[in-house]
Amino acid sequence: MSEQAFDLVVIGGGPGGYVAAIRAAQLGMKVSVVERAHLGGICLNWGCIPTKALLRSAEVFRLMQHADAFGLSAVSPAFALDKVVARSRAVAAQLQAGVKHLLKKNKVTVVEGHGKLAGKGQVAVEGGSTLSAKHVIIATGARAKVVPGLEPDGELVWTYKEAMTPKVFPKSLIVVGSGAIGIEFASFYQALGCQVTVIEMMDRVLPVEDEEISALARKAFEQQGMKILTSASVKGLKKGKDQVTVSVETGGGTSDITAERVLVAIGVSPNIENIGLEETGVALEKGRIKTDAMMRTNVTGIYAIGDVTAPPWLAHKASHEGVICVEAIAGLNPHPLHPRSIPGCTYAHPQVASVGLTEKMAREAGHEVKVGRFPAMGNGKAIALGETDGLVKTIFDAKSGELLGAHMIGPEVTEMIQGYCIARTLETTEAELMQTVFPHPTVSEMMHEAVLDAWGRAIHF
Ligand SMILES: Cc1cc2nc3c(=O)[nH]c(=O)nc-3n(C[C@H](O)[C@H](O)[C@H](O)COP(=O)(O)OP(=O)(O)OC[C@H]3O[C@@H](n4cnc5c(N)ncnc54)[C@H](O)[C@@H]3O)c2cc1C
Repeated sequence: MSEQAFDLVVIGGGPGGYVAAIRAAQLGMKVSVVERAHLGGICLNWGCIPTKALLRSAEVFRLMQHADAFGLSAVSPAFALDKVVARSRAVAAQLQAGVKHLLKKNKVTVVEGHGKLAGKGQVAVEGGSTLSAKHVIIATGARAKVVPGLEPDGELVWTYKEAMTPKVFPKSLIVVGSGAIGIEFASFYQALGCQVTVIEMMDRVLPVEDEEISALARKAFEQQGMKILTSASVKGLKKGKDQVTVSVETGGGTSDITAERVLVAIGVSPNIENIGLEETGVALEKGRIKTDAMMRTNVTGIYAIGDVTAPPWLAHKASHEGVICVEAIAGLNPHPLHPRSIPGCTYAHPQVASVGLTEKMAREAGHEVKVGRFPAMGNGKAIALGETDGLVKTIFDAKSGELLGAHMIGPEVTEMIQGYCIARTLETTEAELMQTVFPHPTVSEMMHEAVLDAWGRAIHF
C-alpha cells in the first residue's frame, strides 16, 4: 500500500483524460492519470483512429478499382485482410506510444489499474495504491451498448472491436444502427466487397444529420450496393454455424435477413460502474454523470468529462471539456462549450460533416431562415477529383445573418467543416463569409458558394 499526493487525479486516459492532464500540467498542477487498459482510450485504440486507418485502405482500394477512369490501370486489385488490419493496429499503437510520451514530457504520473473514488479527495487504484488530490476528474468513457437479444459473442455477433479486427472477411454483414460508427463500418466492408445490410430504427440513415444530407447519403450508399432498411427494428436473432438470421420488423411486416456476421452499433453505455459514484453521492442524469458548464459534478472537488457525461459522445468534445474543466479549476475563466458548436463527422464514402442546427431544427426554433446549397457537380476541383457526389448546405438566420448550421456531404468535407466552426466561434455573419477569399481550385469553394446561394448570389450554379 502506497499513498501519493497530487493536485489533480484523472481517472481514465482517453482523449478527455489525457488532454485534461496535460493542460493541468501546463498550468502548474501536479497530476496523475489512472488508466486500466490503454492510454489514448477508445479513440486512439478502438475508435476514431483505427477506423480511419481501415477506411483509408478502403478508399485506396476503391480508387484502384476505378483506376481506368483516371487513365491508369491496376490489374485485379486485391486486399490482404490481415495486412489491412495490421496497418490499422500499427497506427493505433503509434499514437498510443505518442500519448505516453506526451504525458511523460509533461511530467504527468501514469498509474496503471482500475481507479475508484474512495472518499473525499481519494482515489484507490486496484492493486493497492491510493492517490490523494484536491481535484478528481472522472474521464472513464464508454463502451459498446448491449441490448437484450443482441448480445455480442465476439464470433458471429460483433461490437466495433471485432469489426475492427476481423480474422476472416465476411461475404455478408448486417449492421444494426446507422449512426456514424455503424455507417463507417458499413462503408468499409461494402467497399471491400462485402454485401452489407444496414438496419435503422429511425426513418433515415445518419439520423442526427440534416434530412437532406441523410437522403443524399442513403442514395450514395445504395448506389454502391448497400441495402438499407429504415423504420426497421430487430425483433430477434438466430445463430447458425457460420451465419446469423435476424428477424426485422418494418411497416410492411416481419422478415428474416441472413448474413455471415452482425455488427451491433446502437450507441455506447457510460463506464459508471464500480468507480465509487454511489458512495460519494455523485449525481447522474439520464444515466450519465451530471455536470455544469465547467464540468463540475454536484460533489465539490469531483468533475466529469467526455463520454461518461452528456452527448455528443465525440473525442473532440471530451478533450475540449477536459481543457475547460482544468482551466476552471485553475481559476481561469474558460468559455463554456456550446453543444451546437461541436462538429460531427462520418468518414464514410462519401463523407458527411455538420455543425449547428439542421434546417428542421432551425425552423422549429422559430428562426426565419435563408438556406443556401451548392452541389459538388458545380465545383471544378470535385470534378477533377472524380468526386461529384456532394452538397454543401448552409442555414442562416434571415434577419441577423447568423450562421445557424452547416451540413456537408462529399469529398473531404470532414476537413472542411472546421471553416464553418471558426465562423460560428467568431459569430460571423453571411457578409463576412461572402467577403472571405477561398482558394481556387478547392472543394472549399463550395462552402463560399453555399453562403452566396443563401442570398441568391451563387456564381457557378
Ligand atoms: C468505432 C468508433 C469510432 C469512433 N470514431 C470517432 C470519430 O471519428 N471521431 C470522434 O470524435 N469520436 C469517435 N468515436 C468516439 C470517441 O472514441 C469517444 O467519444 C472518445 O474516445 C471519448 O473519450 P473519453 O476520454 O471520454 O473516453 P474513452 O476514450 O472511452 O477513454 C476512457 C478511458 O478510461 C479508462 N477507464 C475506464 N474506467 C476506468 C477506471 N475505473 N480506472 C482507470 N481507467 C479507466 C478506459 O480504459 C479508457 O482508456 C468513435 C468511437 C468508436 C467506438
